[in-house]
Amino acid sequence: MIKAEMIYMKDIGLGIKGPEKECDSLKCPWHGSLKVRGRTFIGKVVSDKGSKTVIVERSYNRFIKKYERFERRKTRIAAHNPDCIAAEIGDVVRIAECRPITKTKHFVVVEKINQKSPHTDGKKDIENNKNEQENMKTDVIENETDSS
Ligand SMILES: [Zn+2]
Repeated sequence: MIKAEMIYMKDIGLGIKGPEKECDSLKCPWHGSLKVRGRTFIGKVVSDKGSKTVIVERSYNRFIKKYERFERRKTRIAAHNPDCIAAEIGDVVRIAECRPITKTKHFVVVEKINQKSPHTDGKKDIENNKNEQENMKTDVIENETDSS
């Protein structure tokens, strides 16, 4: 309790609790001067190769009117990963829109929702990968028909 009181943390305005760790980075929404505004998403970290960047994958369903069915779609968003949060591959995170930090990065990780849960690893991942490949194939076909 005393520890938590000693750490200075901003209220970033999303109604969520900040990280337990502290950092001195300026590009941190909790401890630096980075402001968040715009949209927020929940997604899964698929790459943490960048030193302070994670790639977050977000899947959503798009309705196809002709077939009255949904297709699974997904996007990958590059997000800044502050030291105090330090998200890793497999983590489910909440990302919030902010000013452009680099050319392709205008989101920042604000919260780790759960860490590498056993439900998201293993079997389901393999199934997802299969679906991904199938989705890729259908995407290509669609694109071809769109352009013609
Ligand atoms: Zn921080």
